[in-house]
Amino acid sequence: MVVNLGGMPNMHTSPENPGHTKLRDAVREFADREIAPHIARWDRESRLPVEVVHQMGELGLFGLTAPEEYGGSDLGLTGLSIAVEEIGRVDQSVGITLGAGVGLGVGTLLAYGTEEQKQTWLPDLVAGRRLGAFGLTEPGAGSDANAMSTTAELVDGQWVINGAKQFITNSGTPITSLCTVAARTGTLPDGRPELSAILVPTDTPGFIVEPLHDKMSWRSCDTHALRFEDVRVPEANLLGERGNGFKQLMISLNTGRVAVAALATGCIQAMLELSVAHAGVRPTFGGPIGRKQGVAFQIADVEVMLQASRALTYRAAALKDAGAPLDEFRRASSVAKLYATESAVTATRIAAQVFGGYGVMEDGPIARFYRDAKVLEIGEGTSELQRMLIARGLGLPVE
Ligand SMILES: Cc1cc2nc3c(=O)[nH]c(=O)nc-3n(C[C@H](O)[C@H](O)[C@H](O)COP(=O)(O)OP(=O)(O)OC[C@H]3O[C@@H](n4cnc5c(N)ncnc54)[C@H](O)[C@@H]3O)c2cc1C
Repeated sequence: MVVNLGGMPNMHTSPENPGHTKLRDAVREFADREIAPHIARWDRESRLPVEVVHQMGELGLFGLTAPEEYGGSDLGLTGLSIAVEEIGRVDQSVGITLGAGVGLGVGTLLAYGTEEQKQTWLPDLVAGRRLGAFGLTEPGAGSDANAMSTTAELVDGQWVINGAKQFITNSGTPITSLCTVAARTGTLPDGRPELSAILVPTDTPGFIVEPLHDKMSWRSCDTHALRFEDVRVPEANLLGERGNGFKQLMISLNTGRVAVAALATGCIQAMLELSVAHAGVRPTFGGPIGRKQGVAFQIADVEVMLQASRALTYRAAALKDAGAPLDEFRRASSVAKLYATESAVTATRIAAQVFGGYGVMEDGPIARFYRDAKVLEIGEGTSELQRMLIARGLGLPVE
């Protein structure tokens, strides 16, 4: 059973400027036309549609947060959230490809790159001709990123990198040109590791891309483990300040978390649209299931989760765009990410229930959204990590 999205009016309620409204309409139309008809196949084939990355680039989606001087449209994190939500409404894999490509690929360079680094890398990334990846997680260090063991040693004016990364989005596509690698560059006086971020062109000898991870979620998004065997890049490839890499990457993750919250909001929007449509026509016991309170009330709960997730997401994005203090933005991004992603998981469970047997069939969209939603609670910091950050922001001495 194939259910088409697109029957329900845009129910977005947050205030937007005219540029944002135009963007939302354009991305929704693009997603319905260019992505929706193909997603089931891409998911089955575990294939990132590189051609869609180029199309999104032509539409300006990879340049939403970049200033005009780098080819962007300067529509801020609000603009990126709108685009990711609208793509995520039809497909979560393409949505995270965009969210990570901009939030983590373009975003880290924009925030910390030298003018020369920006001029070298940004034009292609902003145009969607190339993709940038962000390598923080390792086989032995996920939530506890400080425990990473990848090293970068300065030898004769070059960083020599050795180690491995795990689960890195957009890292092995034919158009991936760059990976920002977090590595230990020394030890601080208090014994903690000195962590720095280094820009590594993916065609550097010793940069090894392992086979595609076979995933339950985001199957058509490109995710690989990476290995670094004496990877040598110039000293000038240091991103930002030496020893400040951890802080920089954590700040970038705040932006990425808002993009994930937007992706979750798109998922909930899809679950609502599909559930309302199905409940209105599926008959049992002499009438549509939407007449039964047991079904209708569950769908009403999805609407509540949608409105709350959307409000939290765009509040966090607006704080960033307004240059709010980092602490305030950090807390808002964790709150949005935590609430929206856990709501997305609940919304997919409710939608699968509303659809009955059709909800678990892979020829309809609900099963794919159900699989995709789970990873929202894990990527860019798990739910537990968000609770930890929120509690710490409240002044609690939580470990
Ligand atoms: C599809 C996908 C794409 C990804 N893309 C990227 C990417 O592009 N770049 C990148 O660097 N990483 C990426 N990641 C990695 C992701 O950020 C990590 O998986 C995540 O941070 C969790 O780390 P972990 O998997 O090692 O789990 P662990 O850190 O081992 O955690 C396991 C469990 O323990 C819990 N836990 C850990 N510490 C605590 C604590 N102190 N208190 C309570 N609970 C705790 C966690 O919440 C989790 O439930 C990706 C992951 C996936 C699945």
